[in-house]
Amino acid sequence: MPPRSLPFEVLLNADLYGPASLGRRSLLVCAGKIVWIGEGSPDLPEGFDCRVRDLEGRRAIPGLIDGHAHITGGGGECGYETRVPAVPLSRFTRAGITSVVGLLGTDDITRDTATLVATARGLCAEGIDAWCFAGGYHVPLRTLTGSVRGDIVHIDRIIGAGEVAVSDHRSSQPTLDEILRIASEVHVAGIMTAKAGVLHLHMGDGERGLGLIREALAVAEIPARVYHPTHCNRRRELFEEACQLTGSGCAVDMTAFPESSIGAGEYSAAEAWQRYRSAQLPPDLITISSDGGGCMPQFDARGLPRGMTVGEPAELAATLANLLEEGCALEEVLPAFTSNVAGLLRLPAKGRLEVGHDADIVVLDEAHRAVDVMARGRWHVVNYAPVVLGTFEER
Ligand SMILES: [Zn+2]
Repeated sequence: MPPRSLPFEVLLNADLYGPASLGRRSLLVCAGKIVWIGEGSPDLPEGFDCRVRDLEGRRAIPGLIDGHAHITGGGGECGYETRVPAVPLSRFTRAGITSVVGLLGTDDITRDTATLVATARGLCAEGIDAWCFAGGYHVPLRTLTGSVRGDIVHIDRIIGAGEVAVSDHRSSQPTLDEILRIASEVHVAGIMTAKAGVLHLHMGDGERGLGLIREALAVAEIPARVYHPTHCNRRRELFEEACQLTGSGCAVDMTAFPESSIGAGEYSAAEAWQRYRSAQLPPDLITISSDGGGCMPQFDARGLPRGMTVGEPAELAATLANLLEEGCALEEVLPAFTSNVAGLLRLPAKGRLEVGHDADIVVLDEAHRAVDVMARGRWHVVNYAPVVLGTFEER
């Protein structure tokens, strides 16, 4: 029997990571928000209708923020039959993901921004939070209003642009001027709206690597925070370049590739995070995302697909668990999945367990798996099982 959702709920005896380690704490959740954190029980009036749950010392962490997922389904890179279906709600919640940013990739021609925005709104209606980026791989960008600036300013869910492909045979081979024009649009729209205003860049395998971003930083006034390259762990040389780029103030994103798809020249997201930390680079400039729902094809030397796998939101949770299994400290690992993403994407109520923040809470078991997941004050996963399903999901 799933627990009833009441406006008030007390969670007792959490080993709280906010993401900093806060020790044994209790939380009071009210109407989707954390309204109190303290020791013992909150002082509540007698007869107060409030559910109480004892976490018995289990670790409670902020809900993960997946900053890169193909919520509509991506793909189509190995033929029409390989267009990936939309990612249903519980594939996110089971992985402890309570916030997600949807985007278009290679297929920004049979998929469009209108569908993307509607899909994000659908996930919000189902109980998690979802935003999206205008555009896709190709320039000129796919938009809803005719411009990226207009999309960010006029559409509530759109917070930036991406994933614009560079250094990839599937890109539209954008020039420096084209990248600068897009970056300027997202930057100005971000200022106008207090939204993220980021240009999320898909990095391909090409040897040009991050050259375009370095040039953009060298010639224009647009701040480094606007550029957010992803898949930076797909090639070792690219990873080294990305590490150097953080010296300019750019945040860099690693992809939680499925283990089966990691080739000889790549790093897993967990290995990339460990290398990044060992190099003592800025701890707030690394993020990790799933590429969930995305098509991950392998190509031969002629640029023809040899086969494909599909990105999974669960890989984000698996990456976190792998890092903890290897002995990394939870409070050091967590920001790349939570507060760093919230900071970069300017999501002020997300990524931390603090009073006034959304009650997006993941309870971990001893094997570092998500036992229970709450999104905006509502339990979505209880004892490993989703108790809330997407509208068209079957139990
Ligand atoms: Zn990509």
